[in-house]
Amino acid sequence: MTFPDLGLSEEVLRAIEEAGYHEPTPIQDKAIPYVLQGRDVLGGAQTGTGKTAAFALPMIDILAHGRARARMPRALILEPTRELAHQVAENFELYGKYHNLSMALLIGGVSFVDQNKKIDRGVDVLIATPGRLLDHFERGGLMLSGTNLLVIDEADRMLDMGFIPDVERIVKLLPPLRQTLFFSATIMPEIRRLADNFLMNPKEITVAPPTSPAETVDQSMIVVNRGDKRDVLRQILRERNVEAALIFCNRKRDVDILGRSLKRHGFNAAALHGDMVQTVRMETLDGFRNRSISFLVASDVAARGLDISGLPYVFNFDVPSHAEDYIHRIGRTGRAGMPGIAVTLAAPDDTKYLDAITRLIGKEIPVLESPNIETAALEDSGPPRRGRGRGRERSRGERSRSEERRPRQRESAAQPAPPASPDEEQPAAPETQQPAAEKPRRNRRPRHSEERQTSAKADPKPRDKPQPDEPPQDGPQKAKPSRRKGATVGFGDQDNIPAFLMRSTGGSREK
Ligand code: AMP
Repeated sequence: MTFPDLGLSEEVLRAIEEAGYHEPTPIQDKAIPYVLQGRDVLGGAQTGTGKTAAFALPMIDILAHGRARARMPRALILEPTRELAHQVAENFELYGKYHNLSMALLIGGVSFVDQNKKIDRGVDVLIATPGRLLDHFERGGLMLSGTNLLVIDEADRMLDMGFIPDVERIVKLLPPLRQTLFFSATIMPEIRRLADNFLMNPKEITVAPPTSPAETVDQSMIVVNRGDKRDVLRQILRERNVEAALIFCNRKRDVDILGRSLKRHGFNAAALHGDMVQTVRMETLDGFRNRSISFLVASDVAARGLDISGLPYVFNFDVPSHAEDYIHRIGRTGRAGMPGIAVTLAAPDDTKYLDAITRLIGKEIPVLESPNIETAALEDSGPPRRGRGRGRERSRGERSRSEERRPRQRESAAQPAPPASPDEEQPAAPETQQPAAEKPRRNRRPRHSEERQTSAKADPKPRDKPQPDEPPQDGPQKAKPSRRKGATVGFGDQDNIPAFLMRSTGGSREK
């Protein structure tokens, strides 16, 4: 199918042609005709599949008829993080450039006053994170009774982050007769139950998740001792005359340390992570987009959905501890058919994580050959040992699998690590994947974050839902509820279970 076959308007077709899209992606191909028919859609699609345009393009045409009224948005798009909300807003502007639709972005970290002014004037589309939307509603600045078109994007992340009770509250404020588009990377049983509750006779569309990175990304890996990583990174940046790169660290603290270190060594670098104030994050991202910043050191807050056109390089300064993050991270380069290069700096004790990535992408990351870089050996698989000094480097006699992979080994690989320099990596709490998000409102409390963080770290049991005295939103969330560990997430205690889960599933929409 071509875009004109999908039934989109001339104006939208012109905008997407100017955006450089030549043909619809599978999710666009399958979803757009149903959205234009007014059907509910349950879309199983990850970021990177073109799902934003799959809902935004037909929405623009649907909204082209009709007028916005003060404080009564006509359509609502719920996003789990500010970054995603911001990006969807940008896409909306791009695709809607030949329409006269108004839009407001309701995210935390931005003044209520400006947001209120926009809502007061009347908006066609509201793009919001759940917490901020409810804040506006509770202050009386917003009416949702005329919002007939709802998009719930990245529902699985909303679930992971404990946002579902907020989403349920919001859905109850909307008219029961509406069109709902519901997207989730995976449609697991909890997501299906939510979909049964929110959607009416939906058209279900699933597209293959990107389990393999784009073919346009040239991947390579180099194994070096942790203490050598910054030297090696600088060496590669200089030798290859890298003009711009996104450099991922696993921990916020390391993002700051590496950002400072690069700056000290004369690189035009900046840091981006979830503890930074929203306005600074946006400025930093804009700076990176317009290349006034060349090297952006980031946590996984920048791994999903971030779209920087023509980004030539991604570095994994740390091997991600969740294999899917590898795909998300390196997917920031090699976009829209452009070539991209992804280099991973692995440490000897990253074997387990590399094995998981190998299993996911179905091949080993090719090893980078560089005569000027002293490489180290990977340890055999086993429990990962994180942090300096706690791991035992294997002696050369013990090496096995890693020798087969690596032609040259660093002689000093069996030596203990050198002492930490002032800007050396230090063990720190890992960055969670939702720092940019609003926290679930029910758990917001202004104080005791220190206490919570300490006890969360000390708690030997996995926490599978946000606790009532969780630290306030926008701060680091030390004990991330994780679906990956097979835990129940999003809710757990009786009083936190959304009402619909207490009823039998029947596919009918709540009243
Ligand atoms: P998304 O999955 O919505 O985050 O989109 C991923 C990327 O694909 C974004 O950079 C979009 O600009 C781009 N994109 C979306 N649709 C198309 C298309 N039909 N052709 C080329 N690129 C697209």
